[in-house]
Amino acid sequence: MSFNKSVLICDPVDPILHKILKAGGLNITYNPTITNDELVEVIKDFNIVVIRSRTKLTKNLIEKTDKCIIIARVGVGLDNIDLKAAYQKNIKVINSAESAATAVAELVLCLLLTLSRQIIKANDGIKNNKWLKKELVGSELKGKYLGIIGLGNVGKRLSRLARGLNMNIIGYDINPIDETYSREIGLIKTDLNTLLKSSDYVSLHIPLIDSTYHLIDKNELDMMKETAILINTSRGGIVDEESLYHALKNGDIAGAALDVFEKEPALETKLIDLQNVILTPHIGAQTREAQSLAANVIAEKIIYHLKTTS
Ligand code: NAD
Repeated sequence: MSFNKSVLICDPVDPILHKILKAGGLNITYNPTITNDELVEVIKDFNIVVIRSRTKLTKNLIEKTDKCIIIARVGVGLDNIDLKAAYQKNIKVINSAESAATAVAELVLCLLLTLSRQIIKANDGIKNNKWLKKELVGSELKGKYLGIIGLGNVGKRLSRLARGLNMNIIGYDINPIDETYSREIGLIKTDLNTLLKSSDYVSLHIPLIDSTYHLIDKNELDMMKETAILINTSRGGIVDEESLYHALKNGDIAGAALDVFEKEPALETKLIDLQNVILTPHIGAQTREAQSLAANVIAEKIIYHLKTTS
């Protein structure tokens, strides 16, 4: 089956996406550095618009579409698309929900281990001619309580990996949590406040929506143990970075790792000045495997949608 449709790819994506769409007869324009101003001019010419996280499809941009039938997000979060505007224009919005789960969950484990064993300090020490053996007494993950907020694709994947390290898993989700899964993990289900008070590590895996904006602010940070570590690989804006800065500076919590920030790129954040924080540039889904899987899933979903609606 061949589809006579035009596709604009606005962000860098794995080449497998082109391959599958080309095989479906689609006419592809690849412009991974397109600016907002350029997009305003050309968006009306395309039937399908593909983005990752760089491009923001605002209300204004979506209103400029003329023949667009699909907006495809190669990745998970849809917070860079004005969904209401897309809905009003009758545009189908698709994403690749499960493709990044392993990549993000493995990054969280990497951050937990790096913080628990003070790897950054150890490495910096040697590179600065200091043998910090005595100073670097770490802690083990085995037997510790990992609080996971949001037990969707990433949260569940993380819990399974952490069980492999003999951690205890405390979980909180606003939606019901599947019983079979809970038994498999030995999940301790609880409310948000109890999770915050009881966990040695807290990891966030929820979407950024109005109700989760600054879900973790001073109040929640105050509930956490002084020895606790906070990890956010979900979305910037869920953690109030100003409150986090003060909590880390005052020793209200022991450490944090952030892969996502309210403003990205976060090259000016004052968290940079703190020793007990690790900052990564939104690399949660940046593995070859996750990118290829996401591109594959999106290409197949586009073809499927065209087949079932033409
Ligand atoms: P998901 O939709 O599978 O799971 C989200 C879970 O959060 C759901 O179970 C939902 O019920 C729950 N939830 C929603 N609001 C909640 C609230 N207020 N309190 C508690 N639970 C709540 O999503 P996912 O694929 O697991 O992704 C989780 C997050 O990770 C998303 O924000 C996504 O954008 C982000 N993400 C980041 C990267 C990265 O590069 N760092 C990559 C992929 C995904």
